[in-house]
Amino acid sequence: MKLAVIGTGLLGSEIAIRLQDRRFEVCAWNRSSEKANALATVGIRPSATANEALAKSNAAILLLSDAEAIRSVLFPAGSDAPPLEDRILIQMGTIAPNESRALGRDVERAGGQYLEAPVLGSLPEARSGRLIVMAGGELGLYERCLPIFEALSEQPQRIGEVGQGAALKLAMNQLIAGLTATFAYSLGLVRDEGIDVEQFMGLLRQSALYAPTFDKKLDKYLSHEYGQANFPLKHLRKDLGLFRRVAEQSTLETQPIEALEAVMERALQKGLGDLDYSALYEALVERR
Ligand code: NAP
Repeated sequence: MKLAVIGTGLLGSEIAIRLQDRRFEVCAWNRSSEKANALATVGIRPSATANEALAKSNAAILLLSDAEAIRSVLFPAGSDAPPLEDRILIQMGTIAPNESRALGRDVERAGGQYLEAPVLGSLPEARSGRLIVMAGGELGLYERCLPIFEALSEQPQRIGEVGQGAALKLAMNQLIAGLTATFAYSLGLVRDEGIDVEQFMGLLRQSALYAPTFDKKLDKYLSHEYGQANFPLKHLRKDLGLFRRVAEQSTLETQPIEALEAVMERALQKGLGDLDYSALYEALVERR
């Protein structure tokens, strides 16, 4: 199967390389051409336009930042209709369930087939084929695309119809935001009170409250160095906004999410948006 990766930012580049390594024939397109061109060194052919990449492939994997970006690429106002006839479009970014359903309808109207397959995990997991794939869409189509998902994930799963994979991904990312914020808050108090952090961590690790992500990010909180982002804070902020919008149309209380969104906004105003999402700590805990 010939694949096009559309959007070779942080995650898209790694996914394209992984698929190429696993013997798929991959071409790539990115709005800023240098990111797609850089992949030529590993044998991934850059395309000059998204339409060219679509035309060269049987299936296109979308790894764009949000639904607006996807629409501007697939359905650009006043430009040629994209060549979606008989193409499979696999949307792997994080977007809202309703956005995914609407995209699915429009892709089908243009003669294509649509599957959503958002992922949990980041660049190291993409590199090693250990992403958690949560697909949504028609079973037969999912099964046809399974070799792609198996190249990226040890245990890809179909969650249900289009929208359900997207919803589960938002549920997961709400946990990323919530766990990050709640741990940062407790660590902030521990440090404020001059308690030994290792003693706190030792007790936490023995308890039912422990989550591995706490240790994974601990050095960053302690050093206030957030380094090269695999998953930047600005994307987590976007995902929390998507979660809140879905929650508003459900039975869920949105107040806690709104409070967390306000903290995230503060973090973005502090210029932390491109850093690792754990930089949220800096907006929750003022440095003395
Ligand atoms: P990223 O590095 O910021 O890449 C975003 C991509 O979207 C780039 O290719 C960018 O093109 C493109 N883009 C943005 N606006 C566009 C527009 N209007 N028209 C055309 N292209 C546009 O983000 P990422 O980390 O790869 O994430 C991609 C998606 O995967 C997001 O939905 C994110 O939430 C999700 N995700 C990311 C991770 C992760 O660990 N990074 C994990 C799970 C899910 P340019 O290069 O030209 O700006």
